[in-house]
Amino acid sequence: MTPDEFRTYGYAAIDWVAHYLENTRDYPVLADTEPGSLIAALPAQGPELPESFDQILEDFEREIVPRNTQWNHPRFLGYFANSSTPESIIAEMLAAALNPNAMLWKSSPAATELEQVTLGWLRQWMGLEDGWFGQILDTASTSTFHAIVAARVRKGHKSSDGALTLYASKHAHSSIEKGAMAAGVARENVRLIDVDDEFRMRADLLEEAIAADLTAGLVPFCVIPTIGTTSVAAIDPVPAVIEIARRHGLWVHVDCAYGGSTAIDPRYRWAFDGLDQADSLVVNPHKWLFVPMDLSVFYCRNAEWLRDAFSLVPEYLRTQDNPLALNLHEYGLPLGRRFRSLKLWFTMRAYGRVRLAGLIHEQIEDAKRLASLIVAHPDYEVCAPVHFSLIVFRHKRSDAHNKALLERLNATGKVLLSPNVLNGKQVIRLAIGNIQTNWADLAEVWGMIEKLGSLELE
Ligand code: PLP
Repeated sequence: MTPDEFRTYGYAAIDWVAHYLENTRDYPVLADTEPGSLIAALPAQGPELPESFDQILEDFEREIVPRNTQWNHPRFLGYFANSSTPESIIAEMLAAALNPNAMLWKSSPAATELEQVTLGWLRQWMGLEDGWFGQILDTASTSTFHAIVAARVRKGHKSSDGALTLYASKHAHSSIEKGAMAAGVARENVRLIDVDDEFRMRADLLEEAIAADLTAGLVPFCVIPTIGTTSVAAIDPVPAVIEIARRHGLWVHVDCAYGGSTAIDPRYRWAFDGLDQADSLVVNPHKWLFVPMDLSVFYCRNAEWLRDAFSLVPEYLRTQDNPLALNLHEYGLPLGRRFRSLKLWFTMRAYGRVRLAGLIHEQIEDAKRLASLIVAHPDYEVCAPVHFSLIVFRHKRSDAHNKALLERLNATGKVLLSPNVLNGKQVIRLAIGNIQTNWADLAEVWGMIEKLGSLELE
């Protein structure tokens, strides 16, 4: 592509994006497609010769876009949302243009240092003390995996010792069990601790489980409370968990992948009591800080603990020994790292903390307003406290009725909600978090719920 052609196609692409962002509401939220349909629509072999860019763009619109579930849709309420703001789209384009690989400081001074600057700002916004070491990884799953590996190394566990055991609540995200498995912890040694009536990990049962494992000759090494669980946005008792962990020498990693963004607003700091005493934590700006996929932030209290777990420097990666020149590959698994901090920097600067906190606060207020409408309706119940922007509710009729209601709602193409089972009952999750979602969207969704929920089962 010549520079002039790049200008022509680039401007056209920006026009396309602007139109898409202005009109996302017109697309069906859930892709109307069958498994295998794109594979069948595209050639089985890649092209031998160059194809015209017009043709590629045409195929993008015809084949790709209709098969895309629209995460940018304001009524995408099924999973914790993410958003592409115009600012972050521009940042992603510029990052791709510079295309650094921030494995070493020398290979990308700007990307290495901007990561430190933005994560320093975010740490301050979240009210965390100095000294936390932050790095950007792709997902919370990867961040939590890093925490578990570092915890295992810090425990100094030897193969002749008893098996390692890890603790989280019954409502913890599956990434914790998966991270443990990948880090070499047997699945049967992941203890999923029972919860209280607000779905919070019970500290007394955690204590009992650790004591029983110690008696059995096992080695408890890590506990992972969550602030904002996936199923109901419950808030585990972090201070009590930390107190127990300290007595028994366990690493505490806090999963606030979803809830963590609310800490930038002092009104929600109550939910993060004790966070500063943890050993590590994960927060996903790609969930609720309006930064597009993918950007997960992993903070560790002491950078040296990560170096102990991950540093291995072959001769070909050896560079100058300047303590200011951080080589990020020494603190985690990936060697290659893309320039993710650029979109975080653009977003933080273009919005500012006050505006971002205000957007999150409005969404929490909207969630509470919608929950109060649901509670007031004689046919519905809200099944868990609404601390953040997640509402878990059900029609009081049967599980089958709730399943049918969810299917009918999602089939409209106007909304996407997700199912779950809570206390043995079929429930519906509605999670607000896309930057464009407004009260009119939610009122429309509530109208659809009332209408479709009143229909009899077929
Ligand atoms: N932790 C919590 C509380 C989550 O809600 C999720 C996903 O929704 C995850 C971890 C996993 O996030 P990721 O997709 O970034 O691995």
